[in-house]
Amino acid sequence: MDRRRTPPDIETSVLLKCARRCTLCFHLSGDLAEKLGQISHLDQDPSNCEEDNLAFMCLNHHSLFDSKTSQHKNYTLHELKAARSKLYGAVAENKHTEKITATGVTYNLIGPNARVNINSHDHSANAAAISTGTTPDILMSENRARLLVTLPHDASEKIASFVPSPTTLATLYILPVVRNYGKTMAVVTLFKARFLILSEGQQLPTDPDYEAADFQTVQVVTQLPPDALVQPKAGISNFDFVPVYEQKSTLWLYGLVDYRDIYGFSHQSRFCFVYHIPGGFNPNPAGFYSSGPEAYNRCT
Ligand SMILES: [Zn+2]
Repeated sequence: MDRRRTPPDIETSVLLKCARRCTLCFHLSGDLAEKLGQISHLDQDPSNCEEDNLAFMCLNHHSLFDSKTSQHKNYTLHELKAARSKLYGAVAENKHTEKITATGVTYNLIGPNARVNINSHDHSANAAAISTGTTPDILMSENRARLLVTLPHDASEKIASFVPSPTTLATLYILPVVRNYGKTMAVVTLFKARFLILSEGQQLPTDPDYEAADFQTVQVVTQLPPDALVQPKAGISNFDFVPVYEQKSTLWLYGLVDYRDIYGFSHQSRFCFVYHIPGGFNPNPAGFYSSGPEAYNRCT
């Protein structure tokens, strides 16, 4: 296929309108953070450089969108274009420069302070009572807290520059970002993250195992207001990392966060990332990419 270069004036126009905010990050989670990314061809035809066919996407979404096997191929052209015009609208209204308040709390998942204040979060009786009543469900759904887990940009750079020493123990810490994209308070009750190393040919199990002994777990009750975030820590040692560094194994980072909304309902947001090292025909830069089956990425 003829991969013609996008004319510079069209490219500039796209970049200015989106201010380097990712169309899919904004569409899926209201994320208006600046992203490293690329311009995608919405109809998947790289020779179609009409501005209407172009949208800026972060590296994760760009690579997922381009891969024919991913769930992202299911986005319709209409949906993508509607998402893009919403994004352009938000940027035109300067929504992307509004200050967000972050609590910036860090919990150490390794070490003596890993577990704090364990509380039950079983509100199922409460939730059942609400759902059988006359409560306006739609309003609750619109106004509830919604947590999503992403990785900060420096995570990819940090791991790409992690050179394991053969003799001295060192731990690479990754700080996943748990952010409340909803409109009301969330009460976070549990965070779990696990590095999983799979040797060549091994597939990620279809059903995620959240009971494995090597999960790094934070059980803590934390209030998380809208737009606020917490960054629990997950660590991997250089000795564990060696086969990944030598490209003999694949590294996955997956887990979940449990939380309650202001109506007392319990929710769970799962996340799953794979660490990619460039090689073969894959030109994407080294780093973490959202990946894994739906069960690993389900959010309730
Ligand atoms: Zn994105």
